[in-house]
Amino acid sequence: MSAEEKSAVWVHCGDCTHEWVLFYTPIDAHDLAKFGKSYCPMCVSKKVFMGSKADAGAAP
Ligand SMILES: [Zn+2]
Repeated sequence: MSAEEKSAVWVHCGDCTHEWVLFYTPIDAHDLAKFGKSYCPMCVSKKVFMGSKADAGAAP
């Protein structure tokens, strides 16, 4: 019953708006390094931002 301690951390692309789960909480140093080196799997953009589009109020 420890699954509740983890939650998905969504990121999104600033160019094509694709969003995906990059890692899960709790975030450690490796995750931060991963975030810094990550790029969009759809358009290979380096504009990767924390949070999903839904967080910005774009919920369907
Ligand atoms: Zn993209």
